[in-house]
Amino acid sequence: MPDLLSVAAARETVLSVVKPLTATTLPLDKSIHLVLAEEIHSTGDSPPFSKAMVDGYAVGDANLGEGEILQVTQEIFAGAVSHTPLLAGQCARIMTGAPIPTGTAAVVMHERTRPVDLTANAEKLANASFSGDQPHTIQLLESTKAGQNILKKGAAISAGQSLLQPGQPLSPACIGLLADQGITTVAVHPRPTVAILSTGDELVPIGQEPVGAQIRNSNSHLLQAAIHIAGGEPRVIGIARDNLPELRQKITLGLNADILLLSGGVSAGLLDLVPQVLQELGVRKVFHKIRLKPGKPLWFGVYEPENQIAPEITRTRTLVFGLPGNPVSSGVCCELFVKLAIAALRGLYVEKAISTQPALLANDFIHRGDRPTYFPARLEKRGAHIWAMPLKSAGSADLLAYALAEGLIAFPAGDKEYFPGDNVEVLPLF
Ligand code: AMP
Ligand code: MG
Repeated sequence: MPDLLSVAAARETVLSVVKPLTATTLPLDKSIHLVLAEEIHSTGDSPPFSKAMVDGYAVGDANLGEGEILQVTQEIFAGAVSHTPLLAGQCARIMTGAPIPTGTAAVVMHERTRPVDLTANAEKLANASFSGDQPHTIQLLESTKAGQNILKKGAAISAGQSLLQPGQPLSPACIGLLADQGITTVAVHPRPTVAILSTGDELVPIGQEPVGAQIRNSNSHLLQAAIHIAGGEPRVIGIARDNLPELRQKITLGLNADILLLSGGVSAGLLDLVPQVLQELGVRKVFHKIRLKPGKPLWFGVYEPENQIAPEITRTRTLVFGLPGNPVSSGVCCELFVKLAIAALRGLYVEKAISTQPALLANDFIHRGDRPTYFPARLEKRGAHIWAMPLKSAGSADLLAYALAEGLIAFPAGDKEYFPGDNVEVLPLF
């Protein structure tokens, strides 16, 4: 099969026609899991003032010994600023997050002190006001070290510093970082919309009892779930029958998304009409059929406005994947190609190479055929190695084997007998 594209060449081809979706500005809380389209600089120091990292006592001397006795002359709560400097022999009861008073050398944890002589000192401290029954004199149970339990102004972030780069996916931590900087809107790439259309005269919706030679449309659901996890916005169109008018009508609807995923109807059957309809509707074929098992019939093309024939279509560009109908083939093509396209549209940095991992084969396996095979397997980490156990599989319609798989073993093309302990590459799933 020298004329068919390899998986690597097909991935490269897909990437060559995909660019990130035009950025849009969104409120921070609407940008979770989206990808930044701008560089973010800090708006100020973090923390904005030097603060106590524990509940305890701010002391003025960095070299106090264990057993030292200090007068508590003030209390500083989070949110309050003390204008009273610390003098020798004094300390301030300070709460976590409160700004340290002028002259603070260290903060000693509350647990590393003990109250002493509560009454004898009351007179000296008559002018100080205290909440509750805090001790007026404490004894240190440890010596102090300069800077101890203090987070200095700007220790984490200095004003104007570059924080995040375009291409950064916004994790909850990133959202927190931006919130801390007072950044309320961000430029991000939107989620690609992905229309999903299953084709086949034999298909019924999953809520309907199949009769005779009918089967349930599982692909729409599998693909919808995969798109959701990949960060796309699935739009399920449903089922198109294997006839030209219905295919034309429903494919036209699907061309109003960033990606159209079709399942079925791209092989060599007499009613595999999808390639013909796509071409008719002006979708430019980029490739059809690749060197892959399962997934050989994969069709990929691009729809652009210059070859637009349907006036109701407003999208500037739609990537079209015609996935083989067998559920495992559909799923594997989604893993290898559709997810890549979604990642690139989302603005993520993506590697052309598939990120497989080295593993050791746990069982015997005989591979036959001139196509590389992605075979469902359990993965188990033992010591320094991942062991891959091929699952019992009845092939590309065996959803159970695929459902139980934690990864796919990528066996290279060619007949070969494998033995336990042989080196293989695996593509982890999820
Ligand atoms: P096709 O690619 O249309 O030749 O279909 C290949 C195989 O996949 C056939 O056995 C179909 O019945 C099955 N198939 C096609 N579409 C779906 C679907 N949406 N859900 C489950 N199986 C399907
Ligand atoms: Mg079919």
